[in-house]
Amino acid sequence: MDCLFCKIVNGDIPSKKVYEDEHVLAFHDINPVAPVHVLVIPKKHIQSVMAIEPEDKELIGHLHLSLQKVAETMEVTESGFRVVTNIGKHGQQTVFHLHYHLIGGRQLEWQF
Ligand code: 5GP
Repeated sequence: MDCLFCKIVNGDIPSKKVYEDEHVLAFHDINPVAPVHVLVIPKKHIQSVMAIEPEDKELIGHLHLSLQKVAETMEVTESGFRVVTNIGKHGQQTVFHLHYHLIGGRQLEWQF
């Protein structure tokens, strides 16, 4: 499958890993928007939130627990941080493999 993040999962494209287990991989975004910008993804190819199936319930819960671990590793639990997932055209999703941006390390704003 021609998916950038599947290639990162398989090790065909290198990444700077923050966390990895059997089901989840977290790695630094190549174009960070803040001092902390980590992408947390399921190893299973799922296009976006809209492609999550009932059978993925456990995986998605596990992924959220992994977000906690990544936040602890990146030392942003006290200061706070943001978790974002973009979906489709208006969401400006550019990589169609489910991923959560974990962003922090500075004061964030909320402007649209
Ligand atoms: P999206 O725009 O789909 O929400 O997020 C995709 C993210 O993947 C972007 O923040 C972009 O910087 C990041 N990205 C794109 N290509 C690569 C890559 O080859 N390696 C890494 N680590 N991040 C990438």
